[in-house]
Amino acid sequence: MGVHRAAATIHFCYGHRLVGHAGPCRHLHGHNAVAEIACEGPLDALGMVIDFATIKSRVRTWVDEHWDHKMILDRADPLVERLRADGEPVFALAGPPTAENLAAHLFAVARDAGLPVVRVRIWESDGSCASYERASDGTTRGGGASS
Ligand SMILES: [Zn+2]
Repeated sequence: MGVHRAAATIHFCYGHRLVGHAGPCRHLHGHNAVAEIACEGPLDALGMVIDFATIKSRVRTWVDEHWDHKMILDRADPLVERLRADGEPVFALAGPPTAENLAAHLFAVARDAGLPVVRVRIWESDGSCASYERASDGTTRGGGASS
């Protein structure tokens, strides 16, 4: 017996850096990212898990306000205060701003928005994505993939 899922994608641009990374990701750089929010549940009278527009509207507003065209940095990164002092918008994440941590954060945002979210994937670039999802036992877990 299968289950129905419906997913919507949201495109956004952000900048970040990974403090302590051995490669070029330790420097400020940006991504044109795609967030994919997948919901699961029984079909309604119209034969839908949830309207794609509902997924998008509930999450896009938050992404536009907090992440799009902003720097997403670890709140422990000293650049947070420096950029804010210069008037730059910074989203201070509770940990390194990897695609994995962005996926986990957006999962909580979608859940708090009342969506029956089961997985969030963040495509940092065409061949690289990380996900955070509800496990079969009801807990949540993260994962990554790259090609
Ligand atoms: Zn990056």
